[in-house]
Amino acid sequence: MTKHIFVTGGVVSSLGKGLTSASIGMLLERRGLRVRMQKLDPYINVDPGTMSPYQHGEVYVLDDGSETDLDLGHYERFTHSPLTRDSNYTTGQIYLSVIEKERRGEFLGKTVQVIPHITNEIKHVIQKLAAPDVDVVITEIGGTVGDIESQPFLEAIRQFSLDTDKSNCLYIHLTLVPYLKAAGELKTKPTQHSVGQLRQIGIQPDILICRCERPISREDREKIALFCNVPIEAVIEERDKDFSIYEVPLSLVENRLDQLIVDRLDLASTEPELDDWRELLHRLRAPRHEITIGVVGKYAEHFDAYKSIYEALDHAGMHHRTAVRIARIHSEAIEREGAARLLTGIDGLLVPGGFGERGIEGKVEAIRFAREKQIPFLGICLGMQCAAIEFARNVIGLEDAHSTEFSKDTRHPVICLLDEQKEITDKGGTMRLGAQPALLAEGSIAERAYGTRHISERHRHRYEFNNSYRRQFAAHGMQVSGTSPDGMLVEIIELPEHPFFVAVQYHPEFKSKPTAAHPLFAALVEAAVQRHLGRTDRERNATPEPSPTVTDEH
Ligand code: GLN
Repeated sequence: MTKHIFVTGGVVSSLGKGLTSASIGMLLERRGLRVRMQKLDPYINVDPGTMSPYQHGEVYVLDDGSETDLDLGHYERFTHSPLTRDSNYTTGQIYLSVIEKERRGEFLGKTVQVIPHITNEIKHVIQKLAAPDVDVVITEIGGTVGDIESQPFLEAIRQFSLDTDKSNCLYIHLTLVPYLKAAGELKTKPTQHSVGQLRQIGIQPDILICRCERPISREDREKIALFCNVPIEAVIEERDKDFSIYEVPLSLVENRLDQLIVDRLDLASTEPELDDWRELLHRLRAPRHEITIGVVGKYAEHFDAYKSIYEALDHAGMHHRTAVRIARIHSEAIEREGAARLLTGIDGLLVPGGFGERGIEGKVEAIRFAREKQIPFLGICLGMQCAAIEFARNVIGLEDAHSTEFSKDTRHPVICLLDEQKEITDKGGTMRLGAQPALLAEGSIAERAYGTRHISERHRHRYEFNNSYRRQFAAHGMQVSGTSPDGMLVEIIELPEHPFFVAVQYHPEFKSKPTAAHPLFAALVEAAVQRHLGRTDRERNATPEPSPTVTDEH
């Protein structure tokens, strides 16, 4: 019988509910249990695919092509739980499906209402993940308790335990215990209020996970326990981690959260196996090198917009025992101030994916700088398309080369709309999405990095490299080193004569894990380390290069 864990959040958003849920999933897996992860989001968009990264952060793409919340990225990085379309539902999707049923006449004669029709649909999507080979389903409810939008989800998970059996369900509430400087103490009242609200709608949390900056005293834990009606051992401290998010699971184990969960749900399990994870943190703590990778995008100031990219760079750093500092550089700042001023001093450049014309010229300029100055470069999706535009303009000499996404009547559309996109007008869920196989050229940089000629990577785009320019690119030294298996779609371009210059139409960042860095990120970091070491040698004999202007460790 599958057991269910529900994770809710209170007091404020951005408490790290996704990370905590992913950590719980990981700890249960490490105890030998089979876990499935799921996120229910209260907003009305059918999926986050049509939202701006300013609103919602990165859109995380799964193998099956679903465009999902970025928390699913945490789930995949921390666990082996297979994720599909069923792993992320929104209010929009739930309503859409109920309304479609109504139109088909499935509720004929009845008034369709939030309770029971919407709540039944929510319970149905939770139940979908239960199976004989699944021990635990972890369902994270987006938003915070008290939001109007969250109410149907909370009502549904309340009912859920009545329908199955209370002992099969566990409610975990993540809350904030702030430190008030003026008072010089931690405050438990927001937690009491948040749990109070949950109890009002009929949910008594079993476990409270308390995010805090400072340690919570035994006295404060007792107070929280008493007012929130939970035993003291179920008040778990989760202190802020300045160093790395990958510390979270280990600190939860120290506070015995995993033990508590298996006891409460009566799950037979082993002690958690965490040696590789500890080793990972050790590598992170004792790096042998330190390099700077410039990430040039138009959402440079927004941490969540390139979440998986930053994580994948970290994984590659762990792989090479290298601290990867990330210089988050605004592509429009490059347009204003020039690439040399902002990029001199970086050891590698990454240009991520994106949509829309703003900042394009800055990306193109950044790539030119990396190509000419022999700086290792990885281009991703729009980053690859910009690399093609840059090469066409500055090497082949096709002056107004562009993508038809930005210039409809350029004389040299080196990037153009995919054939399959030509008739599509709807914006939601209609790009070329999800896992697609690709074939790599023998002896290419890409093949060496992957160690195989057959790969599968996730996509999210409407535009592609224009095949009519392939010959000219090749003649000038840009190799097409990866294509769709039929050879029709260009997936990778690279410069064999450059220390490392690879650009891909897909999103490798979605498949990188802390314990298995993605080969292309690993190759970028390796090349950047080489450059850094070479530069350090040169610097010993000459004047040092200035460091990049905007440097941030994320
Ligand atoms: N805007 C480009 C396209 O649709 C790139 C998309 C992306 O970077 N994800 O093809």
